[in-house]
Amino acid sequence: MVDYHIHTVRCGHASGEVAEYVRRAQELSLAEIGFADHLPLVIGMKDPTLAMRHEELDDYIAEIEALKTQFPGIIIKTGIEADYFPGYEQATRDLLSRYPFDYVIGSVHFIEGWGFDDSRYIDGYKTRDIFDIYKAYYELLEAAARTGLFDIIGHIDLVKKYGFVPEQDVTTLVGKALGAIHDAGMCVEINTAGLRKPVGEIYPGSEILKRCFENGIPITFGSDAHAPGEVGMAFERACAVAGQAGYDMFATFAGRVRSFKALARK
Ligand code: ZN
Ligand code: FE
Ligand code: FE
Ligand code: ZN
Repeated sequence: MVDYHIHTVRCGHASGEVAEYVRRAQELSLAEIGFADHLPLVIGMKDPTLAMRHEELDDYIAEIEALKTQFPGIIIKTGIEADYFPGYEQATRDLLSRYPFDYVIGSVHFIEGWGFDDSRYIDGYKTRDIFDIYKAYYELLEAAARTGLFDIIGHIDLVKKYGFVPEQDVTTLVGKALGAIHDAGMCVEINTAGLRKPVGEIYPGSEILKRCFENGIPITFGSDAHAPGEVGMAFERACAVAGQAGYDMFATFAGRVRSFKALARK
């Protein structure tokens, strides 16, 4: 399997040396991993605890290149997790085009400037209608897919992180986002980080994952590790839920070109 969603200390909310992340992956016999740290924020927001700084991007790339030489026994890819900010598509495209990424994970972490997945701003759930939050979130996801900027949608149902669930049905909203993801030829990741959060569920939940399969959307895997011990976390379970949804293949990337590998059923 692959773990394509691994952070580094540069983002300001992760710990450990990059080599420790690789060693953990080797302990778990992962064939391939990819770092996908938070791309510098293109909106000019200066919060050193959210993403790496612009000045750090060159070092990030260089550090991963050095790791490839240091650890020839495991395939290491250079990825990035980029926020989607409406209105900043060109700035994002320009920044991404300057580096030789193997893949780009596109994530929505902000709804009109509100970091809804940030525990510091959890009060925002009290002052907004939960359905409105979900609606805004899935509309942003749909728009993110339509930009064509990204290869993989990150933690597709992140909006469930703190366990707030709207009373109204969100099937149509999710369906529109899935349609856009399919049309853009993107993958979704099975992201095990949700198991460590209040919701206690993999992203996406089984229902959305099944709909991804029905929509012909490929999958890949990510732990969203922010510490070495989180690499490959709960991947047996991730593999099992993928199989239950119908998947027998997963996607890998090199130079932003996708290939498929057989999913080993356990
Ligand atoms: Zn992070
Ligand atoms: Fe994220
Ligand atoms: Fe992440
Ligand atoms: Zn993430």
